[in-house]
Amino acid sequence: MRVLVTNDDGIHAPGLACLERVAAQVGNDVWTVAPETDQSGVAHSMSLNDPLRLREVGKQRFAVRGTPTDCVLMAVRHVLPEPPDLILSGFNKGQNLAEDITYSGTVAAAIEGTILGITSIALSQAYSFAPDIQPPYETAEALAPDLIRTLADLDVPAETLININFPNRAPGAVEGVRVTRQGRRNIDFLTIDKRSDGRGNPYYWLTYNGRPPQPDVGTDLEAVRAGFVSVTPLSIDMTDHACKAKVSEALGLDPDR
Ligand code: MN
Repeated sequence: MRVLVTNDDGIHAPGLACLERVAAQVGNDVWTVAPETDQSGVAHSMSLNDPLRLREVGKQRFAVRGTPTDCVLMAVRHVLPEPPDLILSGFNKGQNLAEDITYSGTVAAAIEGTILGITSIALSQAYSFAPDIQPPYETAEALAPDLIRTLADLDVPAETLININFPNRAPGAVEGVRVTRQGRRNIDFLTIDKRSDGRGNPYYWLTYNGRPPQPDVGTDLEAVRAGFVSVTPLSIDMTDHACKAKVSEALGLDPDR
């Protein structure tokens, strides 16, 4: 099986090296195409106004000066001799749960893979976000191979990607695996931190509010907090099918055409 590994944390990220080791367990032809620099938070953006610089950094390893989406496009359309059978994006430094999915470059790489018709899985390792603390990537590395083998063999719909999050626990302390739905935080989790530079001028930094949400039962947030691996099938069809009739009615249109 030919496997493409990518991420949004960049070619030098420790989580990428862990996922490359996992990919070598599940596939026999592993390629890595990852961003030159940390692209966390860029979501599904692509570079339309800048050139994409490609740099070979090792055997079947490449860095692209671009976004995770650029990396997948470069890999599939240019770098690999044949399209991959599977795309793995991660292991992201930090969880990608609930609203995170809409900001995540890690998930976006899997979205791009799905659009290109390739089975794609995003993988993220939760951690405390405390300074000088590294995520417990050994947890993701220990538990990912079996999950990936099972999910790669599954004939998921063409619109579907899989989002996996590993809890902030040692491998032996993980409670199990739960299939979940995308959660929603019930707090304002992103805030603006006003700071001062060396000359007293203000600047602003987006920061995560430390207050924990109270997640609904069955969500990715709840599972990871309770120490489970969360596996969420996501659809690239973002239509709110249940709301179509209501919008049609408001516009005086037939909802069935
Ligand atoms: Mn990231």
